[in-house]
Amino acid sequence: MNNVSHNDTNSKQNEALDLEDGLTAKELINKGSGLTYNDFIILPGYIDFPADSVNLTSQLTKKITLKAPLVSSPMDTVTEAEMAIAMALCGGIGIIHHNCLPAYQANEVSKVKKYKHGFIHNPLVLSPKHTVSDILKVKKQHGFCGVPITETGKLGDKLVGIVTSRDIDFLENTDYNNIKLETIMTKLDNLVTAPSGVTLTEANHILEKSKKGKLPIVNNQGNLLALMARTDLKKAKNYPIASKDDNKQLIVGAALGTREDDKERLALLAQAGVDVVVLDSSQGNSIYQIEMIKYIKQKYPGLQVIAGNVVTKKQAKNLIEAGADALRVGMGSGSICITQEVMAVGRPQATAVYKVSEYARHFGVPVIADGGIQSIGHIIKALSLGASTVMMGSLLAGTSEAPGEYFFSDGVRLKKYRGMGSIEAMDRKDAEGAAMNRYFHNEADKLKVAQGVSGSIVDKGSVLRFVPYLQCGIKHSCQDIGVRSLTDLREAMYSDNLRFELRSHSAQIEGNVHSLFSYEKRLF
Ligand code: GDP
Ligand code: 5GP
Repeated sequence: MNNVSHNDTNSKQNEALDLEDGLTAKELINKGSGLTYNDFIILPGYIDFPADSVNLTSQLTKKITLKAPLVSSPMDTVTEAEMAIAMALCGGIGIIHHNCLPAYQANEVSKVKKYKHGFIHNPLVLSPKHTVSDILKVKKQHGFCGVPITETGKLGDKLVGIVTSRDIDFLENTDYNNIKLETIMTKLDNLVTAPSGVTLTEANHILEKSKKGKLPIVNNQGNLLALMARTDLKKAKNYPIASKDDNKQLIVGAALGTREDDKERLALLAQAGVDVVVLDSSQGNSIYQIEMIKYIKQKYPGLQVIAGNVVTKKQAKNLIEAGADALRVGMGSGSICITQEVMAVGRPQATAVYKVSEYARHFGVPVIADGGIQSIGHIIKALSLGASTVMMGSLLAGTSEAPGEYFFSDGVRLKKYRGMGSIEAMDRKDAEGAAMNRYFHNEADKLKVAQGVSGSIVDKGSVLRFVPYLQCGIKHSCQDIGVRSLTDLREAMYSDNLRFELRSHSAQIEGNVHSLFSYEKRLF
């Protein structure tokens, strides 16, 4: 009895007290200066559910839904087929860059669309006239030495044998330059192969029964089409949240410009089965982009179009009216970007994301927060300000799926990462010596003005491990905030239930590791 009256008093006192704390998103953003992700923090809520029950489903465009709100950037050191496959397997999507010939880009799209889990579609192949030295070089550079041998040394030609570690481990003659592969390879008669069209389960069964390490896939003329490795089958896991189309193929995006010849590129991309295109420009509010959106919508009505980049409501208005299915938001916030410094145009990213998202939601147009994402915290901040997905460059560069080879500098394993508006990227030439990059300059530009830099980034291992780490972190963050899904997160923000606070300079220092003599930062 006593307890009850005590509780009654408590709740009456609580009612009388003002529990309102922190700022709404609107108050936060309208304080004056533009904000970056580091300038604010989200206040915690109430937890009554486990982190792994949080639902990360989110719209990429009006018609494409992803199970994870993660997109890899169309940059030539970030996204080609390998990255796009890994991103889609993990529930996100990759956007293939366009700093390459149209046929090359379309082929990368087609590799993703044709991807079948467990098959190596582009195996390294040698000819019978190559030597053991060549195999050892492959082993050193790529880490494997199971190499199918075709008559010409090319994929698609007649398979004549295979060389694996077992063929070279116990060689007595060490004059490797002079031992031709035809003398040591396992010849066709002793090879177990599988016909094209074989399913993963059937191939698995053949490998298990034959006890071999590699299974070449051939067509009925005996030409090599693909390869399977026992190691992959052993580690083959399911990717239950993979992003797939109605035919169960992985989905993929591709970037392009807004010039006349980009229409030819577009035709090849559409033919290769691209699901979504990104009109790639640092300032998307232009007549060229508006016309291109209308052209695509009229010619390829089923194709989703992401327009941008924009950072203001007025820019967004034009592109939404033209028919954009999503907007890419960010100008000058990228890690490799010098636009704000050189052009004096742009906007701090947190403010840009909130302003454009708040406008675009009235038209059902999702927003992609592009650039400046350095951590899981930044991802959740972008989503909490209204973005549906985030696009990442630097966070995914340096993974094994990013294009380019690793190299060492001062004992650290690195990969190249560069802005698409860096002089180095703009100077990229194709095999015939034609300039590839049309991103930031037009025919009239005699002199290039760089909007990005070129650098290197530390090895992050495989996207297949890194992206699940990001997802797990986002779920834990939602749990701390007290929301069970990304839809709930946005709802809480727009209904003013999600509360924020500005961070002073010292608050930012306090929020980082401090007062230690030394420490190790391992993220997962
Ligand atoms: P190996 O016996 O030395 O060829 O190596 P393993 O079969 O143990 O591992 C090869 C790994 O590299 C597998 O995970 C393959 O999927 C992967 N891989 C990627 N590209 C290729 C390729 O062109 N050839 C081979 N043999 N493996 C590749
Ligand atoms: P990050 O994730 O590394 O911070 O930023 C990646 C984003 O930066 C890309 O998605 C793209 O929007 C932008 N970006 C890429 N290259 C350049 C460049 O050279 N200049 C500018 N201004 N932005 C770039």
